Amino acid sequence: MSDRDEKSLGQETADSLPVNFIQTIITEDLKSGKNNGRVHTRFPPEPNGYLHIGHAKSICLNFGLAAANGGICNLRFDDTNPSKEEIEYVESIQDNVRWLGFDWEDRLYYASDYFDQLFEFACQLINKGQAYVCDLSAEEIREYRGTLTEPGKESPYRNRSIEENLDLFMRMKNGEFPDGARVLRAKIDMASPNLNMRDPVLYRIQHAHHHRTGDKWCIYPMYDYAHPLSDALESITHSVCTLEFADHRPLYDWCIEQVDYGKEIHGRPQQIEFARLNLTYTVMSKRKLRLLVEKGVVGGWDDPRMPTISGLRRRGYTPEAIRDFCDRIGVAKRNSTVDIALLEHCIREDLNRRASRVMAVLRPLKVVITNYPEDKVEWMTTENNIEQPEMGIREIPFAREIYIEQEDFMEDPPKKFFRLRPGGEVRLKSAYIIECQEVIKDDQGRIVELHCTYDPDSKSGGPNAGRRVKGTLHWVSAQHAIPAEVRLYDQLFLKENPDDEEEGKDFTSFLNPDSLEVLKDSLVEPSLADAAVESSYQFLRQGYFVVDPDSSSGKLVFNRIVGLRDSWAKIQNKQG
Ligand code: ATP
Ligand code: MG
Repeated sequence: MSDRDEKSLGQETADSLPVNFIQTIITEDLKSGKNNGRVHTRFPPEPNGYLHIGHAKSICLNFGLAAANGGICNLRFDDTNPSKEEIEYVESIQDNVRWLGFDWEDRLYYASDYFDQLFEFACQLINKGQAYVCDLSAEEIREYRGTLTEPGKESPYRNRSIEENLDLFMRMKNGEFPDGARVLRAKIDMASPNLNMRDPVLYRIQHAHHHRTGDKWCIYPMYDYAHPLSDALESITHSVCTLEFADHRPLYDWCIEQVDYGKEIHGRPQQIEFARLNLTYTVMSKRKLRLLVEKGVVGGWDDPRMPTISGLRRRGYTPEAIRDFCDRIGVAKRNSTVDIALLEHCIREDLNRRASRVMAVLRPLKVVITNYPEDKVEWMTTENNIEQPEMGIREIPFAREIYIEQEDFMEDPPKKFFRLRPGGEVRLKSAYIIECQEVIKDDQGRIVELHCTYDPDSKSGGPNAGRRVKGTLHWVSAQHAIPAEVRLYDQLFLKENPDDEEEGKDFTSFLNPDSLEVLKDSLVEPSLADAAVESSYQFLRQGYFVVDPDSSSGKLVFNRIVGLRDSWAKIQNKQG
């Protein structure tokens, strides 16, 4: 890293960066004419799982920086570990990036595209005396590496001749040795204060089928070797990664400097580290998320409780809300944890503008309006979104039998209960005022039905339209309502930081047993009859809901995205 970069990195305070500090670096690079004014980034996922919201931060950052600076961004799969990678993941990742609203155009790459070149570069390193085949076991290599306070010990194989190294490396490639028998290591410095520079492994033997290269290879390059060279081969200018790679930067630079590319390489990619996203009440590592899927704790990678992009999408999050969230959290150089309430705030804000407000009764209680004519149906006019008049109006049917929410009636309520009670009055949204006359119970004493009367003059336009009662309830007409299943979600974990594993307890012991509640007998207003999968609504007084793909099998299924109460706004107000 140059002096100038060091300085621009040092200027900001760690926590709240006014302009993101990577943009500051890019602005300076553009000013100084570095990279001939090119800005070329990449998003480099390993296809070993589905992407999560942390990846969304990296995607927004890489594609966003390119777009903001007239540059381009590649999508590159870091597919160097065949045993954990699958085509399903490759496909889901592309789908997720596209859905988030980003376009790699014709720049879809795979590290495996470079396996021949990477092998060739490794031979170059051997020929320059900068790499050697080492027969120590993985455990011995670890022992020899030393610690932060003790220098490492040189491998007894370190001074093999170039000829022997070339021969052994070729035989490794040809499959003559079993997994783990030998590795290729860089010959750098066993006394380096940076452990990553103590002769890091460049290649390992792995007799595994690769989803792209098949059985061509049985040696695979390590990430720390493949990644910088892939960046260089793609003429990446700014290689943005998370903080844990800061200590790897000298190795990143070393790899890039040592090889002869045999073609013109435009500039040298610069690695820049930023803080990864952590969210409260969730885990983010793909390994842990995979475990939840494999153990059947969730329904799959796209379970609406998962922090995966597919899960968030199914939960009803929009790309706009996720991008907004990524903008708001910013880019810092110190790790921190973001409150999940901020993510929820972002989707609420987005849907508050866009979603129609409709009526749905989640836990229905029948109400018969005894003085309303038996066969009559009135179509009441109601607004689609009271805050967005341009979203128009619609008509909803009113009839003698309706359903209200069970929790909107109490036989013996406390003082401040402004909903329905025996002898009490409420307004039905966009309809009449009703008064509760009688509570009907079954033989076990459970309330099954209410008998009410209505005030015929109380509807909009009537003489009593302005008559004030304390509560307004949502409702649906019994004969018109459409049955629906409603899935209510809560956090997957009870603990704010499930990664913080207490003695003997792993993250799965903090799972929330009540993270999903399924209501099978909900009712929604008839305008939702043909609601398309992924369309979202505000259910009045209940929250935001989205149509789940399971609806395609006939019965409407809704997922609750978030409730209406915005705990983030509350947090902000308290601090404000
Ligand atoms: P995980 O540990 O969840 O598997 P990873 O870093 O191994 O994550 P990759 O597929 O290698 O996953 O990551 C692709 C890119 O996304 C990398 O550049 C990585 O730095 C970035 N990334 C991964 N997790 C986060 C996160 N939580 N916040 C921001 N960026 C992330
Ligand atoms: Mg990884």
